[in-house]
Amino acid sequence: MSNTKFATRAIHAGQSPDPSTGAIMTPVYQTSTFVQESPGKFKENYDYARSANPTRTALEANLASLEGGKFGICFSSGCAAMSAVLHSLSSGDHVVVCDDVYGGTFRLFSRVFSQLGITFTMVDMCDHAATEKAFTAATKLAWVETPTNPMLKIIDIKAIAKIAKAKKCLTVVDNTFSSPYLQNPLELGADIVVHSSTKYIGGHSDVIGGVLIVNDSALADKLHYLQNAVGGVPGPWDCFLQLRSTKTLHVRMKAHCENARAIAQFLESNKKVEKVYYPGLKSHPQHALASEQMRDFGGMISMVVRGGLPAARSFLERVKIFSLGESLGGVESLIEHPAIMTHATIPAENRAKLGIVDGLVRLSVGIEDVNDLIADIDQAL
Ligand SMILES: *Cc1c(COP(=O)(O)O)cnc(C)c1O
Repeated sequence: MSNTKFATRAIHAGQSPDPSTGAIMTPVYQTSTFVQESPGKFKENYDYARSANPTRTALEANLASLEGGKFGICFSSGCAAMSAVLHSLSSGDHVVVCDDVYGGTFRLFSRVFSQLGITFTMVDMCDHAATEKAFTAATKLAWVETPTNPMLKIIDIKAIAKIAKAKKCLTVVDNTFSSPYLQNPLELGADIVVHSSTKYIGGHSDVIGGVLIVNDSALADKLHYLQNAVGGVPGPWDCFLQLRSTKTLHVRMKAHCENARAIAQFLESNKKVEKVYYPGLKSHPQHALASEQMRDFGGMISMVVRGGLPAARSFLERVKIFSLGESLGGVESLIEHPAIMTHATIPAENRAKLGIVDGLVRLSVGIEDVNDLIADIDQAL
C-alpha cells in the first residue's frame, strides 16, 4: 500500500476485510475489553480498549499512511492530541511557538501547561532570525502551524525544522489547515504532525478528533504511552466516522481548493473588501513558498471588510448559504469573526499586532456550487 497514490491509500490503507466475517468495512468494535485465553495471553495488542481498539487501529494506520508517516496515534480531540505532546515535556522546559496559532493552542500553552512550569515564547516564524533567537538552553520543541490562523501566513517548515534540529529540538507541525492531502510536514523535516481531525479529515462537522503522526519509533512509543496513560482516546464510533471521511478526503480537498480560489479572486476585485488573505493569490506575500510547500492552497480565506466592525457585523448577519459559526473544514461553508469568536482569548493588543482587526472575517469555503457561494457573498456585502 505504501507505494500507491494518495487516493488509493485514502480508501484502503490500514483496512482489510474483517477476519471474523469478511465485512468489507472495519466494524465499530463497541467493546471496552477483550477476552483472554489465559492470563496475559490476548490477541494482538487487544487487552483493554483504552490501550487499543481495532477500529482505532485501522484509523491510526490510515492517517499515518496519508501523512507518509509510520505511526498514527489517535485522540478524542485535537486538543487532547496536542496535550499528549506537551505531557511529554517536564517542568522547566520551553517551547518556541509561532505567533499566530489556533486560539485553543494558545490557551493550552498560556493557561494550562504554563501552570505546570512549561514556558513558551511566541515569535513570527516568517522571521527566521527572530525564531532562532527565541530558542533558549531549555527549549525542547518548535511549534509550527501553517497556514496560520486566521492570517494565513505561510511558515517555511523546512527552514524552521533545520533551525530546531541544530538546537537538538523537535519540530511539531499542526497541519490541520492543510490536511494530509495538501502538505506533508514529515517529508519537510518535522518530527511530529498534529491534526484536529474535527476539521478537513472529518470533513462533515459531525465528529471531534485528533491525531499525532510520527516516524521515529521511540517517539511513537512515548506518545502511545501517554495516549494510554492520560487516556484522551477516541471512541470506536468516532473512529469509524473518520475512516468513512478519509475515503473522500482527496475529492473534497480538490473541491475546497477550487471554490476558495474562485472566491478569493472575486473578493480581491470587490470594492467593499479592503484586503484578502489567501495563499493562492499572487498578492499573498508568501505565495511562492506556498506553491513550493503545498500541493494547492486550501479552503480557508480571511478578508477585511471596509467599514470596520459595523460593516463586518452586517455582512455576517446577511449571508444565507454561509453559516455563522466557529470551526472549519466541513463540506458546508462557514463564516466567522475571529476577534469576537475564535480568537477572543487572545489579548486585544496581541490581536492588533497580528492583524486581527475588527473588520476581519474568516471563511471556511465548503464544496457547494461556487456560483451560489459567490452570489451569497455578493448580496451580503
Ligand atoms: C480546531 C483546531 C485545533 C483543536 O482541535 P479540536 O479538535 O477542536 O480539539 C487545533 N489546531 C487547529 C489549527 C485547529 O483548527
